[in-house]
Order: sequence, then C-alpha cells, then structure tokens
Amino acid sequence: MPGATVLLRADFNVPVSSGEVADDTRIRRTLPTIRRLVRAGARVAVLSHLGRPRGEPDPGLTLAPVARRLSELLGRPRDAVRFVRHASGEPAAAAVARLAVGEVLLLENTRFLPGEAANARSLAREWASWADHFVTEAFGTAHRAHASTDALPRAVRDKGGEAVAGELVEREIACLGRALDEPARPFVAVLGGAKISDKIELVEALLGRADVLLAGGAMANVFLRALGLETGTSLVEDGAVDVARRLLDMAGPRLSLPVDCVVAGRVEPGAETRVAPRTEVGAGEAIVDIGPTTAELYGRRIAEAGTVVWNGPMGVFEMDGFGAGTTKVGLAAASAAARGATAIVGGGDSAAAAKFAGVADRVTHVSTGGGAALEFLACKEMPGLAALSDRSPSAEVAR
Ligand code: ADP
Ligand code: MG
Repeated sequence: MPGATVLLRADFNVPVSSGEVADDTRIRRTLPTIRRLVRAGARVAVLSHLGRPRGEPDPGLTLAPVARRLSELLGRPRDAVRFVRHASGEPAAAAVARLAVGEVLLLENTRFLPGEAANARSLAREWASWADHFVTEAFGTAHRAHASTDALPRAVRDKGGEAVAGELVEREIACLGRALDEPARPFVAVLGGAKISDKIELVEALLGRADVLLAGGAMANVFLRALGLETGTSLVEDGAVDVARRLLDMAGPRLSLPVDCVVAGRVEPGAETRVAPRTEVGAGEAIVDIGPTTAELYGRRIAEAGTVVWNGPMGVFEMDGFGAGTTKVGLAAASAAARGATAIVGGGDSAAAAKFAGVADRVTHVSTGGGAALEFLACKEMPGLAALSDRSPSAEVAR
C-alpha cells in the first residue's frame, strides 16, 4: 500500500513536565508499528489523547512535546515529525493532505474536541475522509467508545478501508485472550488491590474460568468482613460487603482468603507492624499486607500453576514495610513463568507492583492496558476492538 494514508490511534498519554516528556515508554512501544508503516511507504497521521481536557483546548495538555520526542526516537531531526495544533478542521486536513510518502504527522490532543468523548460520527467521518486505513495501538483506551477509538474505525471500514490492530494491541489480545480461552491448568487468579466494586465483573468472570482464586489486599478485607471477622480500621469498601457474601457462596472452596495478616496501628511508611491470625485483628489496627503464612501458601499455589493472572497488589506496597506479600506473589509468578507457565499481570497499580517486586521482565506479559486490561479479562466487549475489521491483518496494511 505505498502512498496510502494511514490514521494511527496511538496511546501517547504520557507524563509531561515543564514542556518535556517525562517518561517516553508509551511512545517507544509504538515505534515498531510506526517504523513498519513508514518503511511500507505509508503517509502516517497519528491521533492520541493526553490527560482529561473537557472537550476544549488546554495548553497544559498539548501533544507538542510528544511530537518532539517522537522525532528524536525515530532518529530524525527534532521537528521532523510534523505537529499540527488542531485535531480537526481545515488546517488539520490540509496538513494530512500535504504528507509525503513515509512522513509522519501528529495531530493535537483528540480530547480538545467535544466530539471525541461523545463518539461523534461527524468527527469520525471527517477523520476517515482523510485516510485509507486505520491502525490502533491504543489498547489502554480500547474500552472507551470514543470517536477516535470506535466511530473512526467504523467510518474507515464504511468507506472500504481496513481497520486493524497494530503489533502492541495484537500482542495484548493474544496474551490475554489465550489465558482466558485455553488456559494451561491449574489456572490461578490472584486478586488484590483496593476497589472490589470496580472489579465485581472481573471476579465473576475469573470465577467462571479459574481453578483457584487467591484474594489479598483490601479486596480480601471485604471478604473477611463478609465472614463477620473484625477488620479494625482497615480499608473496607462497605457497600461491597453484600456482593462479597454472594461471591463467597459462588466460589466455594476455590476462593482462598488470607489466614494471617500484617497489621499496623497507623498506615504510614515504616509504621510498627505485627503479624496476626485473621481472627485476631484488633479494633484499632489496619490490615496492610497478607501475612507470611498466607504469602507462603499463595506462593506455592502460584509457582505450581499452568496459568497465572494477577491483578491487584497484596498490600500497601508503596509504603515501606508493607510490601513483602506483594513481592512474594510476584516472585512466585516469575518462577511459574520460568517453568513455562503463562503469567500475566494486568492493572495500572499491578504493573507498578510487578516492577516493585522486580519481576516485570520475568513474567510472560505485563499488560499496558490498565483498566482496559481488567475489562478484557472480565470478558466485557471492548468497543475499540469490536470496531476493527473481522480479520486483523495488520501485516497486510503495513505490507
Ligand atoms: P490495579 O490498578 O492494579 O487494578 P487497584 O487500583 O485496585 O489495582 O489497587 C491498588 C492499590 O491497592 C494500591 O495503591 C495499594 O496500596 C492498595 N492496597 C492494597 N492492599 C491494601 C490494603 N490492605 N489496604 C489499603 N490499600 C491497599
Ligand atoms: Mg489502580
């Protein structure tokens, strides 16, 4: 397809400080697909959001610094990736029309436009009118039905173009999809983190597929409360206790709860802690981590698994002294992977927890998707994937 114009929906939602990109991981991860399109002779126009502007321009959330960094990473002079201060309208259309073969252009933050979050078909048709094909590398936004993720790929297909997943998104789909569809057994799901109400569908979906569910973190606190145990001043989502009771009934013996906990009088870095059986948490104490016996038990189950899906840290690992359970679970997932098991980490804070445990490079896959990964694992339909062409021949578009 030399000469074709390709609209690439990237996820360049990166931290920017003093006008410079502070962490370019997400930009780097999109380079293989951009390079492939450039080599194939495409004219590449890139769309992305950054932050949460409310449908109007916000100078603090411009993508201009991203365009500079992208140029550097592609090894071109600093302004070789052209940046257009508009994401729609005449100036944007003209800039795309002027693209030469193999050139790359970045448009301004899509969320500056009210039509983006509204999934406006008019905006999508405008974008589609510039392009022959659509490629998405924005897995982390694929759970949102926005104009650039949903209406746009549909509009491109309506005019006869292809709408396909890039390499990154294909890898996400392949890794997460395989774990759900044909898991090597035993399939062990590890669930921790803070908010059970956000994760009810995830827990239900995993209950339908996994052989064992190991609960930790504040997620486990809700179950302990549902069993009528004292949880002291621990973070417990009150509204979720009834749901937790129902999930306990559904899960039966497949759901494991901590048998012991690390508790602290104050949830502060370095606070004094003690280990308590789960039946002996004091009224003035908070559960900040799973206890060592639990960590040992969980570690053994995980290390022997054929498939591990891990979402949610086992404790307040960000604070000094509360991270041992999270580290133990991470190391067990890494040793399962070393044995040939599939070990997948999904979730924003979970990715940070895998780094904290030193295992981000030793598990099979750390999803870049954050909340989107959780929705995928909960088997919810993802608008940004459902909108793509039936087959996903990204290779064909880039050929
Ligand atoms: P993810 O982003 O991976 O889905 P969550 O956002 O659900 O994960 O949860 C991450 C947070 O859960 C972390 O910031 C961690 O401090 C917190 N957490 C884990 N265990 C506890 C606990 N026992 N008490 C309070 N917070 C906890
Ligand atoms: Mg989180």
